[in-house]
This record gives sequence, C-alpha cells and structure tokens, in this order.
Amino acid sequence: MPKHTPTHLDPRSPLVLDTRELPRRPGALRTVKRFVSAPSDLGLELIGVPEGADLSLDLRLESVSEGVLVSGTVNGPVTGECGRCLRPINDSVVVTVQELYAYEHSTTDETTDEDEVGRLQGDLINLEPAVRDAVVLALPTNPVCRDDCPGLCPDCGVPLDELPEGHRHEQVDPRWAALSNLTREEE
Ligand SMILES: [Zn+2]
Ligand SMILES: [Zn+2]
Repeated sequence: MPKHTPTHLDPRSPLVLDTRELPRRPGALRTVKRFVSAPSDLGLELIGVPEGADLSLDLRLESVSEGVLVSGTVNGPVTGECGRCLRPINDSVVVTVQELYAYEHSTTDETTDEDEVGRLQGDLINLEPAVRDAVVLALPTNPVCRDDCPGLCPDCGVPLDELPEGHRHEQVDPRWAALSNLTREEE
C-alpha cells in the first residue's frame, strides 16, 4: 500500500503531463510545447486567467535519477478589474516553473513529503498546483489599470481621468445653504 492515496489523475486534463515518451534514463529529454485550456480559478479574486483561455506551455522534461524535472514557461492572458477605477484590465502573464517530480517508490518518494517534492503518479505529472502557485505569485494582489490611475471621484463615482481638471463638488453645509439663500433674498 502506498503511504499516500493520490487522487487519480486524468491524462486528458490540460495540465497533466504524460511522461510515457520520456525514457527513465537520467539525461533523457522531451519538450512539450502546446496550448491547453486554462483550468478554473487560475489566479486571484480580482485578476486571473479566464477559465478556458489558451495557456501556452513551453516545457522541458528531463529524466533525473529519482524522477522527472520539469522546467520552462507557461503564459496566458489575464483579465481583471482595476482596484481603483473598476475598469477592466486585459493583460498577460508569463511564469517560470521548475519542479522535480519523484518516481513512485524512489528514495525521494520514501524520504520526502509530497509538499516538498511533487510525485509522479505512474507516468503522469500533475503540473496544475505548480502552475497555479506561480501564476498567483506573479499576479498583483491590488491590480490597477495603470500605475497612476487616479481612481474614482468619491462623490459622483466617475473616473477622475474622465473628468475635467479641478473637478470637485461644492461641499455646502445645508445650514450655510439656508443662510446664503437668506442673504440673497436681502439683496
Ligand atoms: Zn484604473
Ligand atoms: Zn465627482
């Protein structure tokens, strides 16, 4: 019995890599260049890769004595909302991944925790957690449409950069307003 019971990986999942073609001989190499569709929840609350968007994988799989080293880049579009003016953001993200996945029953498998070193499940590698971590790290927690976005007018909610310079609202205390009406009547 394995000491951990992994959930079964679906080889058709976009971020599951099949290493059957990679000889288990240290130094053997395979490259993976392809587009896959992004899984859900890839990103943060205000900004992320839309589900189903094209993620481009450009990866190198290398056999090492204890497993497979995956390195390369993943890039894809991101959409979100500016935290200051709420306008939509359309951008892209490129992340670098470098992860070792240990063979089942290798020394690494027996001597490390799964959260330290990933695991192969049979011939399959689940790249999704590594990609998810990298994407989340690469995205801003407070996304803005541009660095100097002035945000919204606190009174009318219109983006300040769409308003004329010096836009402000008269802050008239109702009591003063009554008084100024009075003065006007006297004139
Ligand atoms: Zn903005
Ligand atoms: Zn205003």
